[in-house]
Amino acid sequence: MSWQQRIEAALSERRAADALRRRITVEQGAGRWLTLEGERFCNFASNDYLGLSQHPQVIAAWQQGAAQYGVGSGGSGHVVGHTAAHHQLERELAQWLGYDRALLFISGFAANQATIAALTGKEDRIVADKLSHASLLEAAALSPAQLRRFAHNDVGQLASLLSKPLNGQQLVVTEGIFSMDGDSAPLAAIADAAREAQAWLMVDDAHGIGVLGEQGRGSCHLQGVKPDILVVTFGKGFGVSGAAVLCSEAAADYLVQFARHLIYSTAMPPAQAVALSAALDIIRSDEGDARRAQLAALIGRFRDGVRGLDLAVTESHSAIQPLIVSDNSRALRLAHTLRQQGLFATAIRPPTVPPGTARLRLTLTAAHQPEDIDRLLEALHGGE
Ligand SMILES: *Cc1c(COP(=O)(O)O)cnc(C)c1O
Repeated sequence: MSWQQRIEAALSERRAADALRRRITVEQGAGRWLTLEGERFCNFASNDYLGLSQHPQVIAAWQQGAAQYGVGSGGSGHVVGHTAAHHQLERELAQWLGYDRALLFISGFAANQATIAALTGKEDRIVADKLSHASLLEAAALSPAQLRRFAHNDVGQLASLLSKPLNGQQLVVTEGIFSMDGDSAPLAAIADAAREAQAWLMVDDAHGIGVLGEQGRGSCHLQGVKPDILVVTFGKGFGVSGAAVLCSEAAADYLVQFARHLIYSTAMPPAQAVALSAALDIIRSDEGDARRAQLAALIGRFRDGVRGLDLAVTESHSAIQPLIVSDNSRALRLAHTLRQQGLFATAIRPPTVPPGTARLRLTLTAAHQPEDIDRLLEALHGGE
């Protein structure tokens, strides 16, 4: 098959399965509203859980940072790209989350890839939850280490995989809140299983950080667990983008030597680090508590309301509230119906989720108002 034929065949296969992905071009907005082709929608598709992407203090911090440092970092952090703004943010994050060190990455995807690649070798074994994010599973698949996946949140199976003989080291990989189901991992039991096997635990808390726990410290803090490696990302609750790996002094020194995404990639703009420090200040403050309380009240309102409808909700108590409709075309139809009523949500289809579990992924944010939830429930009540 030629390149052209191979590409055409892959596209036709996707089209036939109602699984072709298209990007939309958004004119304005994250937070509560989204403008698309001149029309305004109430936005139930963003991960901006606390509405910080539109926060005046965060915007002002980014502007002030750009005025002070310019718009680009000018290089990798190993050359000239690591500024006082990056340094300060790393120290604030480490202190907030109770780790020796934090290392900034340009994205959660990069942080996961870099960390797994730098840590694991061919003698080792990675044991990951089956529903882990693509950035984790892909990094694990690319690593020369053995990859074993345990059934979602199945600590018994995890322990049994960890007990198999091995020469090298083991890395347990899971998430705080799962991105497509919104449920949480039993982190205390997972940490016990890892400790028992002398394995390291790596938790990606992309959807919990800022949103859960005291001062927004996330899923691990909420469950009283301190993983060896904690990955937090800033594109969701922080409302910006970027990520950090939290770890011990020695592990940080090691990653600085061996994490290729740190060494061979331009550091995040210093102004972004300034904006992230401002977002962190809000997250830790009373205002952060108020935003988390607002979000929790909206989640409660949605779950109470949806119970009466003939739709399959998940165990989720997080801002991610998927409605599993199984069939791709039904998920698309439901998304379309909502759109006709001025509400925006995305249909998520395989291979992003397991076959037969297509869903409407609804996300709530502190930027929503109770009447937005009521409108959503009413539209869902009307059906397809
Ligand atoms: C969104 C997400 C990532 C990727 O983070 P980015 O900063 O957007 O690259 C990684 N892990 C999980 C669990 C996520 O949900």
